[in-house]
Amino acid sequence: MAASNTGETVRVIVRCRPMNQRENDLQSQTIVSMDTQTNQVMLENLEQTNEPPKQFTFDAVYPENSITESIYTDSVFPLVESVLEGYNATVFAYGQTGCGKSYTMQGVNTPGSPQRGIIPRSFEHIFEASSVAAGTKYLIRASYLEIYNESIRDLLGKDIKAALDLKEHTDKGVYIQNLTWHQCTNVEDCERLMDKGNKNRATGATLMNKDSSRSHSIFTILTEMCSRSEVDGKEHIRAGKLNLVDLAGSERQSKTHAEGERLREATRINLSLSALGNVISALVDGRSKHIPYRDSKLTRLLQDSLGGNTKTLMVAAISPAHDNYEETLSTLRYANRAK
Ligand code: ADP
Repeated sequence: MAASNTGETVRVIVRCRPMNQRENDLQSQTIVSMDTQTNQVMLENLEQTNEPPKQFTFDAVYPENSITESIYTDSVFPLVESVLEGYNATVFAYGQTGCGKSYTMQGVNTPGSPQRGIIPRSFEHIFEASSVAAGTKYLIRASYLEIYNESIRDLLGKDIKAALDLKEHTDKGVYIQNLTWHQCTNVEDCERLMDKGNKNRATGATLMNKDSSRSHSIFTILTEMCSRSEVDGKEHIRAGKLNLVDLAGSERQSKTHAEGERLREATRINLSLSALGNVISALVDGRSKHIPYRDSKLTRLLQDSLGGNTKTLMVAAISPAHDNYEETLSTLRYANRAK
């Protein structure tokens, strides 16, 4: 189904994970049901049994037994194809911590597994396409960064503690000063960068005493394609960009009783998430003249990959259990605003 009035520009899908051990031990009840024909999610409130379940409709829904392979085929494949044609695209994973953002993005690291993540699948897709395109030279580069507390760090740089600046250039647009870009010639190069960045993310979190579920991470692949035109014999360059974004956990702080610095930090983290929600809903609305990109680092740096000719996919991850009712409702509401 096409996403609202912007055609396929913004697509929003919801994935529900199975009950986890803790929820099974607590004998949690399932309050989420999905209809894959109508793409509806129904959410029951066990405390208000006289109320009908809340209903939401998305571009696609993926119940507990779903596989990442289907998500890729349905929703990510077309987006990566557009990157290979020279457009920008972004995949976001949104949701409460522990609901399956990393599972969907990174996935089970076994080649051939249907639960292999969106990220390794898109690496394979890009390198497969580049290996069969006769007459086109590909230059593929990647960067991996983290935004924590509205400050940007290079997960592949020399100093993981150094905060980087966002700059604006008349021709280049918004860019991050001193962010390192790494050339990749095969899938393994990309996977090595991903692993290195993930390790640095964990080390950085320990060094700076922070919780990595509170940070946003962005893995970006730049593909530059150079081919000689049969018409004028001149070389033509097309460049596309794919951003793979694992957002900070969307849980509200009231549940974790945050105070002081932690609460201020949480407010800033939620600021990026709410700024992103505002940008996407303004884009989807189509009538807004002003898109509030400047309200957060996240939306500023993704400005050239949100809106215009770009494609966006939001994957909202939820838990089926009744004790997550409030968080699940808030995730569904957020995702609903984005479509
Ligand atoms: P998040 O990144 O949102 O914090 P994770 O992706 O780390 O959450 O998921 C939390 C746990 O739930 C992990 O142990 C993961 O393997 C498991 N999990 C998440 N989604 C699924 C799923 N669709 N099927 C099976 N296990 C899942």
